[in-house]
Amino acid sequence: MIPVLMVASEAAPLAKVGGLADVVGALSAALRELGHEVAVVMPRYRGIALDGAQRVYGNLDLWFGPACYRVNVYLREERARYLLVDCPELYDRPGIYGPPGRDYEDNHVRYAVLARAAFALARHVFRPRIFHCHDWQASLVPIYLRTILRYEPTFIAARTVLTIHNLGYQGIYPPSALPEMGLNEQAASEAGMEFFGRYNLLKGAISSSDRITVVSPTYAREIQTPELGFGLDDLLRQRSHAITGILNGADYSEWNPETDPYIAAHYSRDDLSGKAACKRDLLDEFGLPAQPERPLIGMVSRLDSQKGFDLLREAAGELIAEDLTLVVLGTGNQEYEGFLRELVAARPDRVGLRIGFDIRLAHKIVAGADIFLMPSRYEPCGLNQLYSLRYGTVPVVRSTGGLEDTVDESTGFKFREYSAWAMMEAVRAALAAWRDRPRWEALMRAGMAKDFSWKISAARYSELFRELAA
Ligand code: ADP
Repeated sequence: MIPVLMVASEAAPLAKVGGLADVVGALSAALRELGHEVAVVMPRYRGIALDGAQRVYGNLDLWFGPACYRVNVYLREERARYLLVDCPELYDRPGIYGPPGRDYEDNHVRYAVLARAAFALARHVFRPRIFHCHDWQASLVPIYLRTILRYEPTFIAARTVLTIHNLGYQGIYPPSALPEMGLNEQAASEAGMEFFGRYNLLKGAISSSDRITVVSPTYAREIQTPELGFGLDDLLRQRSHAITGILNGADYSEWNPETDPYIAAHYSRDDLSGKAACKRDLLDEFGLPAQPERPLIGMVSRLDSQKGFDLLREAAGELIAEDLTLVVLGTGNQEYEGFLRELVAARPDRVGLRIGFDIRLAHKIVAGADIFLMPSRYEPCGLNQLYSLRYGTVPVVRSTGGLEDTVDESTGFKFREYSAWAMMEAVRAALAAWRDRPRWEALMRAGMAKDFSWKISAARYSELFRELAA
C-alpha cells in the first residue's frame, strides 16, 4: 500500500472540461481498489458543494511575496478521497480555466496556491510517498520540490510522477509571474523552466519529476519528435529513459450500454436490438427526421484545431453530399462553431448541432450513432473512441496517439495523412461497410468485446509507484 497524493485541476464528477477529469476520477478510484491510499487535491471551483464535507485544514495563509491567500481545505469522500482547496477569490469564478476560449490571467497564481496547499496537506493531513501530478496545472509541485523545498526533511523520501495528458498546454508565463509563484530566476533555472525569454511550468516539471507518464504509448513516442513536441521534444528525448506510455482506461461504470441511465434503450453484445431505439431517440433529440436507412455519424468534442475541425470544414461539402446524417456536440472555438452552423443551415434535415457541454447528450450520441468520427490532428489518448467501441459505435479515426493504439481494422477505420481527402476515404470505407450488415455487426461486436478498463492501466501505474517507492 503506497500513499499517493494526486494534484490535478479537474476530476470527474466534481469538475470536468475534458479527458483529464475522467482520468483523475477513475484512476484514483482504481488505484484505491488496488489497495493504495489515494487522495486528490483540487480546487473547489464554483458549484462544487460542500454538504457533508469535513474541514480538514482551516485558515491556512499562503504567502507569495506580499500577496497572501487564505485557504480552507475540505474533505469529500467520493470513489476517492477529494481534498478541496477553497479560496473563493481564486476559484469561485464562472469558468474552470477562464471565460469560453480564454484563460484567466492569474492561472499561474491559482495553481501555485493549489500546489502550496498540497504541501501543507502533505505535511499535516496526508503524507504521501508519491506526488502524482497532472499536466501543467500541477507542475509547480515537482518544481517546488526540486528547488525551494529541496532540503525539507518531510519530503526527502517523496517521489514525483508527472502525467502528461496534452503537451499542447504548457503554462508559459513572463518573468513578472515568477515572484507571483514564489520563485526567483535562480530557482526557475534550477528547475529548467526557461523558455525563450519566458518561463514554462510543464517544462520545469518534465525536468524536475522523477518519472513521466504519457497517456498512450504512441503519443509518448510522438512527443519526442519535432512535429508533435511543441518545442519540448529535445528535452523529452533527453529524459526518454524516465518516460512511460500508459494508456488511459475507460470508466465502464459510467460508460456501459447495458446500464447507462441516459440512453433510450439498453443493449449488449449479445442483443444489439436496443441500439435502433437509441438512434431514433438521438435523431429526435436533434429534431432530425427518423431515417434508419441512413448511417448516422456522431462527434462529441472540444471545438479545437487539435480535434481535426479544419479537416471537417474542408470536407464538409463532400461529407454532406454522401447519404448520411451528422450530429455534433461541442464547445470551444467560435470559428468552428460558425462553419458548423452554416452546415446546419445548408442541410437542416441532415445535420444536427448542439453547442455546449452536455454529458447526457454525449452519452446519447455515443449510443445512438452508427459511426463515431475523430479526425484529430493529434490525440494524446482520446476517450470517446473507447466509449464508442463499448457501445458498438464504429470509430473512424486518424492514426495518431491513442487513436492509433486503440482502434484497428477489426474494430474501426483509420487514416494516416492529415488531409480532408484521406478522411473522406476512411468515411466512405465505413459507409460502404455499414451497408453490409453482417460485416458491420462483426465490427460492432469486435469493438464491444475490447477491454480498455482501468484495471490494466491502474496496475501499470501501481507498478511504477512501487518501483519508485522501493
Ligand atoms: P480531450 O480531453 O482532449 O478533450 P478526450 O477524448 O480525452 O479529449 O476526453 C474528452 C471527454 O470530454 C470525454 O469524456 C467526452 O465525452 C467529453 N466531452 C467533450 N466535449 C463534450 C461536450 N461538449 N459535452 C459533453 N462531454 C464532452
